[in-house]
Amino acid sequence: MTARVLVVDDVPANLKLLEARLSAEYFDVITAHSGAEALAACERAECDIVLLDVMMPDMDGFEVCRRLKSNPATHHIPVVIVTALDQPSDRVAGLQAGADDFLTKPVSDIALIARVRSLTRLKMMTDELRMRAATSREIGIESAEREAILEQGEGGRILIVDDRPASYERLSARLASDHLVEIESDPSSALFRSAEGNYELLIVSLSLENFDGLRLCSQLRSLERTRNLPILALCEPDDTARLMRGLEIGVNDYLLRPIDGNELQARVRTQIRRKRYTERLRDNVQMSIEAAITDALTGLHNRRYMESHLGKLVETAVLRGKHLAVLVMDIDYFKSINDTYGHDCGDDVLREFAIRVRKSIRGIDLACRIGGEEFVVVMPDTDMAVAATVAERLRRKIASEPFPIEQGRRAIDVTISIGIAAMETAQDTAAKLLKRADQALYRAKRDGRNRVVADAA
Ligand code: GH3
Ligand code: MG
Ligand code: MG
Repeated sequence: MTARVLVVDDVPANLKLLEARLSAEYFDVITAHSGAEALAACERAECDIVLLDVMMPDMDGFEVCRRLKSNPATHHIPVVIVTALDQPSDRVAGLQAGADDFLTKPVSDIALIARVRSLTRLKMMTDELRMRAATSREIGIESAEREAILEQGEGGRILIVDDRPASYERLSARLASDHLVEIESDPSSALFRSAEGNYELLIVSLSLENFDGLRLCSQLRSLERTRNLPILALCEPDDTARLMRGLEIGVNDYLLRPIDGNELQARVRTQIRRKRYTERLRDNVQMSIEAAITDALTGLHNRRYMESHLGKLVETAVLRGKHLAVLVMDIDYFKSINDTYGHDCGDDVLREFAIRVRKSIRGIDLACRIGGEEFVVVMPDTDMAVAATVAERLRRKIASEPFPIEQGRRAIDVTISIGIAAMETAQDTAAKLLKRADQALYRAKRDGRNRVVADAA
């Protein structure tokens, strides 16, 4: 996991210093002497992380950061602002400009490596998600980037795990105006509560009375439900060794006591913003997976899904000696519905048809649209006799109730033909089963349509 770090500073000596320390930790380092140079390098996607000096002559670090964060092409690149120690307000200004973190000069080695490592981890994860999300964009799903830029990180759901009333009351008072804050003062209940509570951020004190805060962090990281829940650790200034352990375990960020209220607010907002961003990307990926296996018009599964899934269902049925039946359905004279009422009305019929199919089958049955007006229903644990009953019920449900078209202004009669096949032997395959159902469907059409024909094999 070697990240490429872009160091930006107008003073060559500062560049040299940071470059040497990062290189010693095997980071790949490139440098820029001005804001403009840095923006160009980021546009060309040359780096994974940016370390940005604040005081530069032409364009200061805040402005560079703002521009990076408002550009969808560079928004995801983590930015660390490097501020002078005697300007505490700069830290908060940096986080407000959208910076992911800050370091103060002179830069301590612990802080430098900790921040860069933790941001590298984050970058690798978002890169992977962004790549998958790009695929969804290609098939027309809105990208997460634009919304992420507008995200302010307010109204977060936060759980504070701390057993000292003076401490958690101060924290809560500081955050309550912008967020929904809850407190858990019994650390042994914290894990369960975090998993159940749907929080967006956990603030964990590492100096609990009778409980190891690090243990809690490590449990949070190993639990599926809380793996992606950001953790902000609160640490005593003389306890940086434990803090380093925490960062290795996967603590996302930290604050040293005594806690600066502005910094607390800024870090909390950053964590929540980031959490929502990755969550959006994740939803995007989930949606693209669904889109890839779903028919857009009817919401049923598509042919691709049916083909891959039917094979598995047949295998399982063979393995367990269970029944399995397949219906292949085709709307009768559908072309003439299109020709008479228009293509849009044809679409209405297809949608309504899918709704009726869904209502007539069980949850474990698989309904798919495999072609224009051709559908398949796969029914596990179902023999030919039961399948014939289901098919007949479905046929009647279509033929007996006219289909609404033109927003319900008219209704037209629709009928379907159905072919059925059921698993016969352990040598049956998905392809053979479908072929037999297809042949039965052909006979149903030939014999006059609006009927069910069972494969006679
Ligand atoms: P049969 O009873 O023999 O099945 O006759 P049919 O007219 O239903 O069959 P044919 O295969 O000749 O026509 C199917 C029609 O379905 C032709 C095609 O334009 C139409 N079609 C395919 N996909 C869609 C779609 O997504 N929307 C609409 N409205 N029509 C579609
Ligand atoms: Mg047809
Ligand atoms: Mg057809």
